[in-house]
Amino acid sequence: MNIILFGPPGAGKGTQAKFLIEKYNIIQLSTGDMLREAIKSGSELGKSLSLIMDKGDLVSDKIIMSIIEEKIDKDDCKNGMILDGFPRTLNQANELDELLNSKKIIIDYIIELTVDENLLINRIEKRAEENLDIRNDDTVDILKNRILVYKNDTLPVLKYYKDKNRLISINGMQSIEKVSNDLYKTIGEV
Ligand code: ADP
Repeated sequence: MNIILFGPPGAGKGTQAKFLIEKYNIIQLSTGDMLREAIKSGSELGKSLSLIMDKGDLVSDKIIMSIIEEKIDKDDCKNGMILDGFPRTLNQANELDELLNSKKIIIDYIIELTVDENLLINRIEKRAEENLDIRNDDTVDILKNRILVYKNDTLPVLKYYKDKNRLISINGMQSIEKVSNDLYKTIGEV
């Protein structure tokens, strides 16, 4: 079973993705995690990625597509996957469609977690207060840029799926348990 999970930064996507991979025995393909791995490796590519990511801007579609293409061919995707943080631009969504067609892969659920902007900023401020080991891009200023980028580049992707009647919206402002229950109800038992 394949899922695309959308949500603005701070929506709790990562938390919910962890529950889903356990429950449905599928893997999570997080482009953010993959990029952070590339940065850790200390390569030249990694250095240029960190300059972009630390500002909260988007990495080029070309880089993202090459990472995704490589991962999607791996055996551990065969039982299903959650695409997390991807596609983030209309161009990525179009290229994903082509890729999935060519590999005869079907996406079963396209889900967005909705959260009001003010609440997102609250959440991130709290995270920043509680946790000293925060990501370089988890400061309030950068978060605001990431929200702006989400609105500019990713809302059109949501509209793209909505127009195809594929988008399922779940209220991400409920408790963690309620959000996961809504997800389980949407997906059902497999
Ligand atoms: P978020 O908490 O916003 O979901 P992610 O971990 O998904 O954060 O992504 C962190 C950063 O990695 C983004 O701000 C962006 O710079 C880069 N990134 C991740 N996925 C993509 C993508 N699909 N396209 C372009 N850039 C991406």
